[in-house]
Amino acid sequence: MFKKILIANRGEIACRVIKTARKMGIKTVAVYSEADRDALHVAMADEAVLIGPPPTAQSYLVMERILQACKDTGAEAVHPGYGFLSERSAFCEALEQEGIAFIGPKVRAIEAMGDKITSKILAKEAGVNTVPGYTDIIQNADHALQIARDIGYPVMLKASAGGGGKGMRVAWNDAECVDGFERATNEARSSFGDDRVFVEKYIEEPRHIEIQILGDSFGNIIYLGERECSLQRRHQKVIEEAPSPFLDEKTRRAMGEQAVALARAVDYQSAGTVEFIVDAKRNFYFLEMNTRLQVEHPVTEYITGLDLVEQMIRIAAGERLNLTQENVRLKGWAIEARVYAEDPFRNFLPSIGRLVKYLPPKESEVVRVDTGIYEGSEVSMYYDPMIAKLITYGSTRDRAIAHMRDALNEFFIRGVQHNISFLAALMVHTRFMTGRISTNMIAEEYPNGFHATDVPHDDPALLISVAAFLHRRYLDRAAKIDGQLPGHERVVNNDWVVFMGDEQHPVHIEPAEGGYDVVYMEENYQVRSNWQFGYPLFKGTLNGTEICIQVERRDMVYRLFHWGSQADVMVLSPRMAELQALMPIKAPPDLSRFLLSPMPGLLTKLNVTVGQEVKAGEDLAVIEAMKMENVLRADHDSKVAKVLAAPGDSLAVDQPIIEFE
Ligand code: ADP
Ligand code: ADP
Ligand code: MG
Repeated sequence: MFKKILIANRGEIACRVIKTARKMGIKTVAVYSEADRDALHVAMADEAVLIGPPPTAQSYLVMERILQACKDTGAEAVHPGYGFLSERSAFCEALEQEGIAFIGPKVRAIEAMGDKITSKILAKEAGVNTVPGYTDIIQNADHALQIARDIGYPVMLKASAGGGGKGMRVAWNDAECVDGFERATNEARSSFGDDRVFVEKYIEEPRHIEIQILGDSFGNIIYLGERECSLQRRHQKVIEEAPSPFLDEKTRRAMGEQAVALARAVDYQSAGTVEFIVDAKRNFYFLEMNTRLQVEHPVTEYITGLDLVEQMIRIAAGERLNLTQENVRLKGWAIEARVYAEDPFRNFLPSIGRLVKYLPPKESEVVRVDTGIYEGSEVSMYYDPMIAKLITYGSTRDRAIAHMRDALNEFFIRGVQHNISFLAALMVHTRFMTGRISTNMIAEEYPNGFHATDVPHDDPALLISVAAFLHRRYLDRAAKIDGQLPGHERVVNNDWVVFMGDEQHPVHIEPAEGGYDVVYMEENYQVRSNWQFGYPLFKGTLNGTEICIQVERRDMVYRLFHWGSQADVMVLSPRMAELQALMPIKAPPDLSRFLLSPMPGLLTKLNVTVGQEVKAGEDLAVIEAMKMENVLRADHDSKVAKVLAAPGDSLAVDQPIIEFE
């Protein structure tokens, strides 16, 4: 076994690998860029080597720096994590030449699977179902049209070198095909420096289901069940689970066996993933093979009880797999949610900044948090905006979902915008709960983006009684203030009105042991908690059941977050409530006719002029903020009435750029 390994990565995956190495008694070396001096992976490793300035092209992607770090520290092997150099065959080759082990597959497998066209041809030869299409490079837009018509619409145009959901376009007709070809080609060139594009049939109502495989250097290859990753936004995974609620035993075995056949064809030695697209009738087709550890590997670890990083390390050290296909047992259900620094209410724009508050849920047998940050860390613009992966387990899918809901209630982050409310909303969505998901579900269910008001709460009485508790605890504390005039002490009344939206809910609040009893609509709610003013989380019980609600106070309003719902409530005396009800309602201005700047930044490009018709999804403007380019797109079809800013302007947040008719 190796004595020391180097992890050529950063963030949560570097920390994840270090944990397993430590468990196995292997020393670890971290590498880091100047932006990551204070990063968690650096603190966790036994040694750390600075490899360059913040941009990845000058640090994490520079092979020579990493090779040098191995030599300087005497690391015998390198784990590449995912992304960065994990699928560069040249990196694997360079390590081998230096006698350093690559904790991943061999050069040939990486090369064969690194290209979507090549791997598709190989898969076909290995007897794997592939998506009907044309496995050659398209010459030009006319050629694309001709092939698309042969295959029949809808089709998908894909960059052969693609990854991370980039360089992909769906086309339903000739016009979209021509446009999609240009866009896919451009995106492929700018993202991967390789503009080869191919066409295949677009599978409708698609589900993304992938098979985890493990192979050793003795030719043993097994599959560890599947992961369903159909909940995606723009072809990027958001929620993953194992097993899939869609597969039956027969399909599972057929997919597993095809995945193994493909792995065998390239003499695969490590952990790897064969991705399939599955249609509504459970026909499945090969998409691509990822020759690395996958982001969502923890769900497989939960249901198999295996540590995939440990398996990868053992295989790279020349050990034989210690289990056979018959030994693989899948037990229970696991779900992963990717917590990103992005603003779900602003079309998921990436957010950067310092994590002023970071309170992850407590880890347990059924809750796992994989992260590379801590309170006070900076989410920088240089790297992936993932804050953490939250993984929960249960004996059944429903239990795993229930744990995920609870864990999301407890996940408190301030300082950067994050998608927790969106993840929580998915967890209470009936389509998700009943397993009727597809890769289009998010686009279909949130056609106009995600809004705080999209998620009604199942049990308003819960929010009302907790709001009553919060306010009463505040008043009782205020009533205890020192130095009150004898005979004029503050008295707290027991009758209050909870305002939620424009609804009034009269409540009666009585102090009780450890909390308050709240009477609402003639029902008694026993609310108990040690919550004090300033606590971001209200943790306690409601009629004996544990609850956790996030609380934010803004003047007289308590903003409550629970199960993906957000509610603004006020608790007023009956007289104040009467007056409040007379207050004119201030209608929020209608901003849907405007394109607003989502962030402070420099307007570098404006693609439209007055009178121009724009289509939903069209690029309208580019704002540069913190050296990052943010493309603003039209969210619906319309016509430009006015242009309110010009390239070169410095924009404030919410400053109007374009007015539509
Ligand atoms: P998984 O398939 O493991 O779920 P993703 O597709 O989300 O992984 O990609 C994992 C990570 O690797 C992400 O950070 C993604 O941005 C990055 N990535 C994947 N493929 C590429 C690629 N070809 N070029 C650059 N980055 C990539
Ligand atoms: P990447 O390398 O970016 O991960 P993939 O080929 O794995 O690219 O595709 C990413 C996603 O795009 C899939 O998970 C699926 O949602 C969608 N997709 C890809 N090919 C097809 C297809 N032929 N039909 C329908 N959806 C597809
Ligand atoms: Mg993929």
